[in-house]
Parts: sequence; C-alpha cells; structure tokens
Amino acid sequence: MPKFIFVTGGVVSSVGKGITTASLGRILKSRGISVSIQKLDPYLNVDPGTMSPYQHGEVFVTVDGAETDLDLGHYERFIDQDLTQASSITSGQVYRNVLERERKGDYLGGTIQQVPHLTNEIKSRIYNVAEVTQCEVLICEVGGTVGDIEGETFIEAIRQIRHEQPRDTVLSVHVCFLPMIGATGELKTKPTQHSVRELRSKGIQPDVILLRSDHTVSRDISEKVALFCDVDPRAVIPMETVASIYEVPLLLEERGLGDYVIERLGLHGGRDLAEWREMVQKLKHPAGAVEIAVVGKYVELHDAYMSVKESLAHAGIANSVDVDIRWIHAETLEARPAADVLTGVQGVIVPGGFGERGWEGKVAAARWARENRVPYLGLCLGMQVMVTEFARNVCGMKGANTTEIDPESPYPVISLLDEQQGITNKGGTMRLGAYPCKLIPGSLAARAYTTDVISERHRHRWEFNNAYREVLAAAGLNASGTSPDGSLVEISEVAGHPFMLGTQFHPELQSRPNRPHPLFRDFVAAACLQGESAAPRDEPAVATA
Ligand code: GLN
Repeated sequence: MPKFIFVTGGVVSSVGKGITTASLGRILKSRGISVSIQKLDPYLNVDPGTMSPYQHGEVFVTVDGAETDLDLGHYERFIDQDLTQASSITSGQVYRNVLERERKGDYLGGTIQQVPHLTNEIKSRIYNVAEVTQCEVLICEVGGTVGDIEGETFIEAIRQIRHEQPRDTVLSVHVCFLPMIGATGELKTKPTQHSVRELRSKGIQPDVILLRSDHTVSRDISEKVALFCDVDPRAVIPMETVASIYEVPLLLEERGLGDYVIERLGLHGGRDLAEWREMVQKLKHPAGAVEIAVVGKYVELHDAYMSVKESLAHAGIANSVDVDIRWIHAETLEARPAADVLTGVQGVIVPGGFGERGWEGKVAAARWARENRVPYLGLCLGMQVMVTEFARNVCGMKGANTTEIDPESPYPVISLLDEQQGITNKGGTMRLGAYPCKLIPGSLAARAYTTDVISERHRHRWEFNNAYREVLAAAGLNASGTSPDGSLVEISEVAGHPFMLGTQFHPELQSRPNRPHPLFRDFVAAACLQGESAAPRDEPAVATA
C-alpha cells in the first residue's frame, strides 16, 4: 500500500484546493517520489459530461475517455502525468454501481446502507488506484467543503482508511480560507476554527492546515490557528494569492510543506524544483506580448476554457511572450463587423462547443482570420467552423453547415457518422478519449509535431463529411491528419495561409507547462510573426493591418 494524503476544504469553495492538491503532487514528484492523484466529487451526476459549463466549467477528458472534473487537468499539468478514469470518482458512480449490484441480487437479503455499502465502494476505488498505479503516495482531493451533506460519505470513507492504515501512512491536509473584515482590516480565523471543528466531529484531525488568503498572513495568525486547531505550528502554512498558479508549488515548498509531509510520512527525497522555477521565471519575465482572441460561448466564465487558457500560457513560455487573451462572446460577432471586434489581435482561437448559440459569430471570426491572414486555431467545434466557413466563402457552397446546426443544409460538410445516428442517451456517448492520428508529411501539423503518428483526445459527435473532402482539398483545405485508415479527418489546414489549422480533437488537453503542445506553440509563434516583432511588454500589442 502507498501512503495517502487526503485533501479537504473548509470555509468556502473555489479557494484553489485543486491547485493546492496538484502543487503537492508536483512537490513530491520533484523530490523523486512517485505520485498519483484522485478526485472524489460528491455530486450525484455520474460525470460532469452532461453538466452546463456554468455549473461546472470545462469537462476534462482523460486518455481512456472519461469525462472528468477540470481539476484533473490541473493534476496532469502539474505532475506531468496522464491520469485515467480511475482518478475520478463521483457519488453518482458510486450509487450507480451499488444499485446495479443490488438489482442483480448481489446483496440478497441485506439492507443497503451508506455505511458500509457506499463507503466500501468508495474505499475500494481509492485502494484500486493505489494498486493499479503502484505509486508511493496517493493524493485524494475531496470536492466541496467539509459540512456539505453530499460529501459526508466520502469523509466517512477517508476516515475509515485512516483507521485501517498504519498511522504514519495517512496524512490529512485541510485547505481553509481566511476572510478579511473590511472595517478593521483584520484576517479572521474563526471560520477556519469552525471548519476544523466540523472535520473533527467526523473523526478526522487535520495534520496540515493551509491558509488561503488574498492578504499577507502574519505569524500571529498561523500560530493562533495552530493552537486552536491543535496542529503543529510548522504545519500551518499560509498560502497567499500569487500571480500565477504555477508559483504555488514554489511557495509551498519554500514554506516547508514538502519537508513536513515527507517527514511525517517517513519518505525521503530532497527539494528539487529548479526546473519548475526556471519555467515560472520564463512565464513571469516574457520578452514581449501577443494578443489572442478566444471566441466562445461562455467567455465570461474562463473556467469553461481552462485548458485552452493554460495551453496558451504554456505556448507563451515556449515563445518567451505573454499571451493576452481577448475573450470574445461569439454572439457579438453576429451583431457587429468582425473587424470592429477583432482588429488588433494577432491570432484567433475558436474552442470547442455545442449548440447553435454564437455559431454564426464563430464562422465570422474564421472568415476574418482567413481573409486577413491572421493565425487561426480551431479546436474541435473550431475546426468544424473553419471547414464550414471555407466551404461557404471559398467554394461557394451557400448554406454549407454542420448538421448539428442545420440538419437540412444543402452542403452538410460536417455530419454524423452512421454509428452516431440515433443515439439518444446524452451521457458518455460521444467519441471520447485518445485516438491515433496519422499526419501528412510536409503539413503544418507534421512540422509542429515532428513525427508522423500522434495520439490526441476527443470529445465530439460530428465529423468532417468525407463526401466533401476532395472538392474542399482542390480549393485548398487539406486534411493534414487522419485516422490511421484514412477514414476520419482529424486535422484540416488552409493552404497558403500563414497558420490556419483546425483539429477534430482537443490538443489543449495534453499541453503541459514544461512541455507545451506543439500546435499551440506553433500557433503562438505564428501570431508573434503576425505582430512583426512581439511588442515590448509595456507597450500595447501591435495592431495588424
Ligand atoms: N458539437 C461538436 C460535436 O459534437 C463539437 C464538440 C466539441 O467541440 N467538443 O461534434
């Protein structure tokens, strides 16, 4: 059995528990300790695949095709390791499994209860990841905040694991928020004290308390928390807001979290965040800047495009530029000329999406990028947009569309494959997870990847309609990546354009800060050229003609 670290949250949600968990993973991994990370989500959905981005932010997809919480994206980016569906547990899955077994008669004669049936199911899934990954430390983050009704079963399950495992192999980390009271300018510890009291009432005494705050946390404050919550003063660690999420591992390591954790768990390995620090240095000291438009449906909610945002940051590090994102509501491009909205950006991204709202605005963005020779990167729906725009405006196919938007289109350039026709269940029925893709030598894509077969993650139903492949190619829209048997178009490129490329997959899911995705890297490089030379940081980005 590995050692376990359970991360819980107190006071309020959205204080960066996911980043903290990911950072702890990075700290241990950098010390040469093998880790894996798992998220326990208390909601009753089986997975977030059917939830609105307003509820949930981005849906992150693992190599093996699980639709998961966006925190898995942070984990993968921080520990630079692919995770699998086993790393994501929801109450929905736990209930579903237990109830399916009940119907089969597996518990015949028994009464099914939260404890032990649900807790046993949760524990076996935690132990399973530990066993399958053979990691030295498994970090489990419990979603939500201690005290939530739906989180109770998870808290009880981790309490039981603490009880079952040898004492020095399980550590509990509690992440709290210190609010500031405006009138007195004081940081308040009382909510933290209450939250710890709540956790203790469930049988868990935290070993480490991380104090999230937007303000400097004084020694007095952490000592007070240590005393009232009965935690080693060394283990109460302030975690003030930093400019970049990638600084968090550096901050926590510097404040002794890594030393404390390995000491308590009886592990060995010295600090080694030199490479990470270098990456953060590059991120914080860019030589210039580019401005990229992201044209989407949920742009007021950056969480919906978390991986896109992060991939751009990684590509910025690789190109020594700061990537400023101009978030654009696709619908504004339906009401105003594209030039009004887009002039000045050096690149355009149309990210993934579903449904009709904003579709025509996205097509207008692609047209503007093509006609003005501004670099364009289309991600999944963004490729479908690019193909539609090209068919309509270059090939004269009036009314060309994806059948998702217009089932009666005279030119259905994007359509459903036979196996997707007639699917009525919404959950988990898309083309999901990693598929291989063969690249055409000499293409932008092949030059970016410098290899001929790649593997990328998918999450979509519609596909490039092969009936239009030849006519579109004759006009300059080339399939530069296909499934190995050639039957599915995975990447399209516009010939003669500096960089106009769309992928049916989601490259943003595989970019890492230390290993930027080649397509994002080259897209940002093309955007830098577009701005002639990247603008110095303190001057506005150069506008394009
Ligand atoms: N709605 C499109 C499809 O299902 C694109 C999906 C996406 O962008 N993830 O094919």
